Amino acid sequence: MTAPQTTADDRMVVAENIHKSYGRLDVLRGIDLEVRRGEVMCVVGPSGSGKSTFLRCVNHLEKINAGRLWVNGQLMGYREKSGRLYELRESEVAAQRRDIGMVFQRFNLFPHMTVLGNVMEAPVQVKREPRAEVRERALRLLDRVGLADKATSYPEQLSGGQQQRVAIARALAMAPSLMLFDEPTSALDPELVGEVLDVMKDLARDGMTMIVVTHEMGFAREVGDSLVFMDGGVVVESGSPSDVLTNPRHERTQAFLSKVL
Ligand code: ADP
Ligand code: MG
Repeated sequence: MTAPQTTADDRMVVAENIHKSYGRLDVLRGIDLEVRRGEVMCVVGPSGSGKSTFLRCVNHLEKINAGRLWVNGQLMGYREKSGRLYELRESEVAAQRRDIGMVFQRFNLFPHMTVLGNVMEAPVQVKREPRAEVRERALRLLDRVGLADKATSYPEQLSGGQQQRVAIARALAMAPSLMLFDEPTSALDPELVGEVLDVMKDLARDGMTMIVVTHEMGFAREVGDSLVFMDGGVVVESGSPSDVLTNPRHERTQAFLSKVL
């Protein structure tokens, strides 16, 4: 694999031999993968296989121990000069991270702010964009996730599914190039899962590049362009979702799928 040279590169994410350990625990043991612009990549695998850690490495919330990671043509966390890597300053890392939206299992909304306030917060405080512009965009985003009528509500007044849709709108307010989802529907009551998946489906149709860690195999099959099966900190198998789900080649993939399908 070669480094993407410009942001015009067709690849939004390039992960090259990513290693991550906590003390003596090797959590990621050489992850190689590429996500093209506009691609929806779903990641599945047993608990503890390193899925969340991988997502956290993609936006440099975790420092990798070896390997390289590019997002949108930028080497995450480092500057390369004459073949050597130099760590970026915290402010430079923060600037890189702004290009990446993340949605977690727990919605993590600011409880003391209205829904609209939550969506407006980062563009106003972090990007210093004009309030009036941000407000208009936030209202459009809330409309898009079906919550135009909840702008003045507080998070605790919303259902889990509604809160998660606010969290998605909040991430989108920063106009990210890439969206990361870490089991976004796992904490929801079953009847609320569909409304969140629908918003993600809409986002995918609109061309957003997404990496989605999920147990929703129906979503992976219908919306995913690719499916990655992780186990023990490595990519065991990847390919088109229908291929991997219908004809898993590896025993570990078969064993996992037989439990979740
Ligand atoms: P998954 O998301 O696939 O369930 P994780 O990436 O959360 O897996 O975790 C992979 C492994 O790394 C687990 O054994 C977990 O206990 C360990 N781990 C994750 N984060 C930390 C951390 N901050 N410190 C120590 N161990 C961690
Ligand atoms: Mg996880």
